[in-house]
Amino acid sequence: FNSGKVGLTSLDVYARDHFPLCMKYVYGILKSTHHLKHDCRLQLGLFLKGIGLTYEDSMTFWKNEFTKKIDSGKFDKEYAYNIKHMYGLVGQRTSYSAYSCIKIISSNVGVGDHHGCPYKHWDSVILRTKLNELGMTTEAIEDIVNTASKGHYQIACCKHFEYIHGQQNKVAISHPNQYFEESLECSKE
Ligand code: SF4
Repeated sequence: FNSGKVGLTSLDVYARDHFPLCMKYVYGILKSTHHLKHDCRLQLGLFLKGIGLTYEDSMTFWKNEFTKKIDSGKFDKEYAYNIKHMYGLVGQRTSYSAYSCIKIISSNVGVGDHHGCPYKHWDSVILRTKLNELGMTTEAIEDIVNTASKGHYQIACCKHFEYIHGQQNKVAISHPNQYFEESLECSKE
């Protein structure tokens, strides 16, 4: 756990360049709607903690976004506890870990939910559209969508990584935080 490694000012750039699609997507939803449901907050919040966002920065981050839509008192009353809980500061005082790919892929995602793994939970039309919006080539999009539609979700994610970074057989993705770390490493090479 790399607490303090990542600061608030880097988050937008990191989200654009280094977050896996599951986190990039929910980060974008938070930024545009200033709200995320509980399961989605946990998926993103624990990932952000895992990449090194401190408790203080995390609280500032969530509060800044949510209070674009609700007042500060409502945030303190209804949402602050949730952030403290992620960092093990209340309740059972368990310091929770970021979710693995298997956990995210296995999660229940209902209508109107945004959490989950895009390669598992999005239909191919939506996946194709989102990959296109990210500027991927038609060849890359079809390869990734075909892989995901065969049920190879983590391989589809790995292919996405490889197309973005111009590398082949670089990684097998098993954890969103591993994707982030590997992506960061690629940018240093
Ligand atoms: Fe996220 Fe893992 Fe799915 Fe990739 S395979 S999008 S890292 S849950």
